[in-house]
Amino acid sequence: MEMTVSMKLLIDTRTKRVLFAEASKETVDFLFHILSLPVATVIRLLGKQGMVGSLANLYESIEKMNESYIQPNQTKDTLLKPIAPVGTSSVSLLLMDDVTTDRTFYRCGHNCTYRVSDDPSSICPQCNRKMTTVVQYVAPPEKQASTEGGFVKGVVTYMIMDNLVVKPMSTISSITLLNLFNVKEVGALQEKEVNLGMDEATKLLKASLQSEKVLTESSSLVSDVSTLFC
Ligand SMILES: [Zn+2]
Repeated sequence: MEMTVSMKLLIDTRTKRVLFAEASKETVDFLFHILSLPVATVIRLLGKQGMVGSLANLYESIEKMNESYIQPNQTKDTLLKPIAPVGTSSVSLLLMDDVTTDRTFYRCGHNCTYRVSDDPSSICPQCNRKMTTVVQYVAPPEKQASTEGGFVKGVVTYMIMDNLVVKPMSTISSITLLNLFNVKEVGALQEKEVNLGMDEATKLLKASLQSEKVLTESSSLVSDVSTLFC
C-alpha cells in the first residue's frame, strides 16, 4: 500500500518560491516523526540520491567490513538496519522496507515466578533452564483522546514554512501573512495541492538536511508544480 501525505502550497510565481504550505495533522505528524528516524535509516534512504557529508562513509565501511572483524554476538544489520521506534506509523512513508518488530518476552518452561527475558537464549537463574517459553506482551491502555493517533491534534490546519517551521495556521491572520512575506502582487500567488509519495518524501528529507528552502526545492521536483518554477 502506497502511503501519501498532501499539502496545499502557496507559491509566489514572481519570486519562484513556496511561501508556505497548509497541511493536515497527518502531514505534520509525518514531518515531526522524521526526527525519530535512526541516522542509519536516513543514510539508507538517501543513499540512492547521494548523501551530503561523510556519514555515508561510516555506513559503507560497515557494509564492506569482513564479518571476521565483527564480534560474534553482533550483526551488521544491528547498525545498518536499526529498528525504528514504535508508534511511528506516520513515517511509514519512509520506512516501507523496514521491519517493525513486536515486543516478545520469554520465561522458562518451569514457570519460575517473576523472571522474564527479552532473549530466548537466557538461562533461568532459578531452575537453570533456557527461557524459551513466549510470554504475551500486554500493551498499556490507550491514552484518552488518542483515537486519532499520531503526534499533533487534528483540530486545526497547520502552516509549514519553506524552512520547515511548523505552527497552527488558525492563530495567524491572512493580512499578517501577506505582510510577513512582503507580498505586493497578490495576483502572482498560486495555490497548488501536492501529494508526496515515497520518492518526494525522500527528496524532502534530503532537502531538509541541506537547505532552508525545503518546500521550494522539493516541490519544484513534483511534476505538476514544476512548471510554476520555470
Ligand atoms: Zn525457571
